[in-house]
Amino acid sequence: MSTKMLLPMAAIVLAASSIQAQDGVADDPLKKIVARLDLQRYKETIRGLTKFGDRRQGTDRNRAAIDWIEAQLKSYGCTNTERIHYEYQPPPPGGRGGAGRGGAGRGGRGSARGGAVLRGERGPTAVNNDADLQPDTRLRELNSQPSTPGPREEVFCTKIGATHPEEMYIVGAHMDGIGYGEAANDDGSGTALVMELARVLSSPDVTTERSIRFALWNNEETGLNGARAYVEQRKDRQGKEDPPGSGKYPEPKWLGMIQHDMMMFDHGMPNRDGTVSEHQRPEADVNIEFQSRSKFAAQAAELAWIFHAANEKYATDYPAAVGNHMTNTDSDPFMDLVPALSLRELERGSQIGAGWDPTHHQPIDVFSHFSDGDFRLGLNAAQTTLGAVAQLAGAKLK
Ligand SMILES: [Zn+2]
Repeated sequence: MSTKMLLPMAAIVLAASSIQAQDGVADDPLKKIVARLDLQRYKETIRGLTKFGDRRQGTDRNRAAIDWIEAQLKSYGCTNTERIHYEYQPPPPGGRGGAGRGGAGRGGRGSARGGAVLRGERGPTAVNNDADLQPDTRLRELNSQPSTPGPREEVFCTKIGATHPEEMYIVGAHMDGIGYGEAANDDGSGTALVMELARVLSSPDVTTERSIRFALWNNEETGLNGARAYVEQRKDRQGKEDPPGSGKYPEPKWLGMIQHDMMMFDHGMPNRDGTVSEHQRPEADVNIEFQSRSKFAAQAAELAWIFHAANEKYATDYPAAVGNHMTNTDSDPFMDLVPALSLRELERGSQIGAGWDPTHHQPIDVFSHFSDGDFRLGLNAAQTTLGAVAQLAGAKLK
């Protein structure tokens, strides 16, 4: 009798311990790698970026920020930094149009960018172009130099794959901002995320089978010009060994492009008067979007669900949601060439497009405006991408 009783118990204990072994930090080396991210370091990297004000493209503060980012990447051990050079000429005045202010409180259905659908209450959406609306005089002075047309640069560095240096994932964010704040959320939050991943994956005791490129795009806010320049200059160089026989691949074949743009603010739908809650909502999530109209939609959807699973496995606080209307970010120029995703605080079309983030392109997009609940959403997005990319690229701890 007693042995018959013991057998099922033993089986349950064995099953439970094997689940623990799979889920335990001690037994999953990727969990150890992801655990090298932390909230204070993430916040400090964002704070470092905000020292350059809104980092508007074509200004000294933008160029100084690129130099600082490059120095940081090198200090993390991602020493093979490179720069893309391109030319930016703004379109003639009145040429772009359509930047009008969306009004608040126009409830109900409507169409949004990227093929999304608007529902419910809306807040205002607009770009602040008035430098005098920045109440902080120190910051107003820091942001005072206007943008000048002409040559532009952007920086990236690469973790070289140990067994497949000829293939890579691209992890990106845009380092330029607008709105006469500090571009803390848009897109200091994404830029810091990419920099933190470069730090963790460049550690001497981490190897990856495939390469990973960490790219900090410029000129996103003027129409994705920095990412477009990269695609134009590099798409035909993919996977070519140069010089032949060297084992070096200046442009590894693109396996996927993952963009990070506005990672912190998910305070829910606006109230009827257009105002938004001051608190991160407990249901906040990381929005993983692909574009169903892209040539690589099916593969991008598959990639999105890999990121969703990585969120469930590696993110400590907030879940993820997958959507199919990726739009208005640096992954767009890649999406017909390679599976492309964007990660955000909110869906770009239906939520940011309906005014859910009142800091967007406004003078209040400053470091001090955000709370730890906000910063933690960005950290969870970092855990999600690090877990997914580490798995995809075959990361190992020595
Ligand atoms: Zn942005």
